[in-house]
Amino acid sequence: MEKKYILSIDQGTTSSRAIIFDTNFNIVSIGQKEFNQIYPKPGWVEHNPDEIWESIRVSVLEALANGKIDSKEIAAIGITNQRETSFFWEKEGLKPVYNAIVWQCRRSSDICNRLIKQGLEDRIKKKTGLVVDPYFSSTKIIWLLKNIPEIRVLAEKGKIVFGTSDTFVLSRLTSGDIHATDVSNASRTMLFNIRDLSWDTEILKLFKIPAAILPKVMPSAGVFGYTKGLDFLPDGIPISGIAGDQQAALFGQCCFDEGEAKITYGTGAFLLTNTGDKIKASRYGLLTTIAWQIGDRVTYAIEGSVFIAGAVIQWLRDGLKIIKSSKDVEKLADSVPDSGGVVVVPAFVGLGAPHWKKEAKGLIWGITRGTSDAHIAKASIESIALQSNDIIEAMEKDMGKKIKNLKVDGGAAKNDYLLSFQATISNKKVIRPQITETTAMGAAMLSALGVGLVKDTKTLKKRFKVDKEFTPSLKSLPIKEIKYRWQEALRRV
Ligand code: ADP
Repeated sequence: MEKKYILSIDQGTTSSRAIIFDTNFNIVSIGQKEFNQIYPKPGWVEHNPDEIWESIRVSVLEALANGKIDSKEIAAIGITNQRETSFFWEKEGLKPVYNAIVWQCRRSSDICNRLIKQGLEDRIKKKTGLVVDPYFSSTKIIWLLKNIPEIRVLAEKGKIVFGTSDTFVLSRLTSGDIHATDVSNASRTMLFNIRDLSWDTEILKLFKIPAAILPKVMPSAGVFGYTKGLDFLPDGIPISGIAGDQQAALFGQCCFDEGEAKITYGTGAFLLTNTGDKIKASRYGLLTTIAWQIGDRVTYAIEGSVFIAGAVIQWLRDGLKIIKSSKDVEKLADSVPDSGGVVVVPAFVGLGAPHWKKEAKGLIWGITRGTSDAHIAKASIESIALQSNDIIEAMEKDMGKKIKNLKVDGGAAKNDYLLSFQATISNKKVIRPQITETTAMGAAMLSALGVGLVKDTKTLKKRFKVDKEFTPSLKSLPIKEIKYRWQEALRRV
């Protein structure tokens, strides 16, 4: 049977998706299954690994059925995933020994505070590119090994292993043959030395984490292993591409060259800029991370995230109730020529990069008797772009050069005013691709490269199709004043 499809498994935070592409990277079919979010205590978030695995099985079967595709026609599998979330399972039999501790989970805050107090922050940042925060995997591992001593005993004997979501899925797909991850996922654990490309022995010793639990780290494209013993896919399909979700989106947006950047405007916003083979240690509160490795070539990126992006539009809908659905915000905002001097700072959960103000609270500033819901809606959309612009400016300062243009995706990238405003305020071309499933696309592209279905990234770039380009066209905007008022508002949160 001709093998003409690529299966991309996108193991996300709230659902797992299976997207089947043809070899020209057109989407053929999609399957999706949500799973439960478990909140054992305030600030704690867990997932049930068996439920995640089942959600993958169901979504793959759904995608195959929707596309009327025989599973024997699948040439290769790519995996992309929620990053940092930590899974623990028995090496033999693959049984989870604890719920997955999710990236959002704050249970290891005290551990992080202790590391900071010990003055380890700079050393850790230099080695891993990351700031000490419960977000990343390593302090979740420390927490588990400390709080469940039986797990530590078995982990030290190599009987219990750790992995991020990609590693867990890969282990299950290969019936336990392979315990591996790719460099992009490894670089989010706060255990991986992004210079030497190996687990950092000094950090492991300091954190008392046994090396035996860690997966083998491999390039992002190439055969990791083959499917084996599954009831929903035949044996022998190569799993040949893996990358964390944000890195996969950068790849799916074809940002292959230094200085190319993408913004994913979802609930939050994630900005990544390709810095080529250079490690850019940030002086402006951004993270340094590995984008991918293809062959011997490692590509790095700098990353910054906005906590509240599309979520401010959800707040207009569910909190203020001035719109019925997210897309209605466009019409409401279009009914006024500008925000009438109103500035919204949606610091609902503090402010992320580059400001890092944990205690900040939100603010609506500049209200007059003439302020209406439309002005607040417009200012809310603008706040997504202004927060993103602060990260872009920090990235440019770190890189010492300008970002060429911005490729965009995510739910809020449908909003034309947001993209025009972003283009104008950041003085860049903003490009929205036809296929906005860029995360799954990135994993599919990596897996195609990994089995030689495509030759190189040049070939992939030719397949990138633009939906719409936005240029700095809102000429009437008083950009200087808008930026000044934004900074003034930020000072007040
Ligand atoms: P996530 O993957 O983080 O769940 P999505 O990429 O699915 O997010 O995007 C959903 C977000 O996009 C929501 O916060 C929603 O409010 C926002 N959104 C959807 N449509 C629009 C729109 N037309 N304008 C602005 N924001 C929108």
